Amino acid sequence: MARIYPLFSSSKANSTFIGDSRGGILIDAGASFKRMTEAFQKSSLPLSAIQAVFITHSHSDHVSGLKMLTKKTGIPVFGQEKTLEELLKKELIAPCSEVYSLDDAAAAADMEISCFDTPHDTVQSCGYRIKTSDGRVCAVCTDLGHVTKTVEENLYGCDLVLLEANYDEKMLTNGIYPYYLKERIRSDHGHLSNNASAAQAEKLVRNGTTRLILGHLSQDNNTPYIADKTVEKGLKELVRGRDYLLEVAPVETTGKMMVF
Ligand SMILES: [Zn+2]
Ligand SMILES: [Zn+2]
Repeated sequence: MARIYPLFSSSKANSTFIGDSRGGILIDAGASFKRMTEAFQKSSLPLSAIQAVFITHSHSDHVSGLKMLTKKTGIPVFGQEKTLEELLKKELIAPCSEVYSLDDAAAAADMEISCFDTPHDTVQSCGYRIKTSDGRVCAVCTDLGHVTKTVEENLYGCDLVLLEANYDEKMLTNGIYPYYLKERIRSDHGHLSNNASAAQAEKLVRNGTTRLILGHLSQDNNTPYIADKTVEKGLKELVRGRDYLLEVAPVETTGKMMVF
């Protein structure tokens, strides 16, 4: 049975473990090695379970722990070409690490992993679609200003999707952020609002997705309660617990995982 552990999820730190009892992969490493180690302990996972790390993009909330993680564990790093170039240039990966550019699907920990482009304000960014050895499929899709056709195609058919629900529109508008930052977040290459996430969640559940995890919530412009209720409302007559399961990824793991 495949499992997903959202270890860290917010605008400040992101990292998710996907695998089974034999091992798995990390998507992003946006917390310090110390915090990552603690998160693994809380989840009763040995660090040796991580067989590779896949990076979505080079923003610090996704890579700040990457150098120490690769130094301490020696695991290989996968990512899109321009993202890897930037990480290497900025020396954010330990020297001697194996680094693989992901043009097509890669295999790690008995899973097939492919990336898909996401619209975000960085040199290059992607989400990941993961097929486990027993044929279950999940995707991690955060840091995107809007849902493109490519994104949608890659999310369809997933049993589970970890989808961004970054901000509540009212909270962002009335919040303390400077105007330029509000505009950046709202832009086509910024982040996904709760309403946009809800609209996408509805399409996904109608297409067979049964498990949703909302992630990358802003701690200033959103709350877990508002994100949860907005998406639940967007799913209209679909019934929670019968048609789908919905959770909000915690800022920092409590040790909880979701099977899919
Ligand atoms: Zn981010
Ligand atoms: Zn980002």
